[in-house]
Amino acid sequence: MENYRENKIVEVLQMLKYIGFDSIDSSLLKFSPFEDLIGEVNTCRKCDLHKNRTNAVFGKGPAGADIMIVGEAPGRDEDIQGIPFVGRAGKKLYDMFSASGIEEKDVFITNVIKCRPPGNRNPEPVEMERCRPYLLKQIEIIQPKVIVLLGNIALSLATGTPSGITKMRGKSLEYLSYKAIPTFHPAYVLRNPGSEKIVVEDFKKVKRSIS
Ligand code: SF4
Repeated sequence: MENYRENKIVEVLQMLKYIGFDSIDSSLLKFSPFEDLIGEVNTCRKCDLHKNRTNAVFGKGPAGADIMIVGEAPGRDEDIQGIPFVGRAGKKLYDMFSASGIEEKDVFITNVIKCRPPGNRNPEPVEMERCRPYLLKQIEIIQPKVIVLLGNIALSLATGTPSGITKMRGKSLEYLSYKAIPTFHPAYVLRNPGSEKIVVEDFKKVKRSIS
């Protein structure tokens, strides 16, 4: 970990020297609270999913976000770009944020597991177990007002069972003492367009809970 941090400092210093700085204020070298954890995730080999990944997908958003969105796992586009929710499901997610009044600045988005399962299959319990410490650390850093659980896999964090999203969506649950609201995954919304207005209503509830 220290090596990762030191290498990043050297990179920054070399870049600043290259563009003409003779000296710099030490405050410029302050790291984001995520920095160490990002390095850990990017080099993680705790489960077999590291073997086929292009990129681990840590998450996206401010460390002080009020809302934490937890999806299932990176898909093909996310694996290629290293950013969560960048494909069609991602566009749908952001459309539903807009429709419910949720602003991107208030949201940190991540997944239950950080590397893409082959063929977009569901994550296996052992993979979720090994990846869970990263999610827990993200939650500890962010301390969100509400956690949104997208789909059955994310719902299982709070219930222990990867099923029941139709019955549980929109309800206020508790996960690690945080308020958690499950709703349908945007990939499900793409397959079932009629569910979009339900998710928008659930997101409005999320929005109210941070106001
Ligand atoms: S899915 Fe999680 S535990 Fe598995 S290799 Fe990726 S970061 Fe590590």
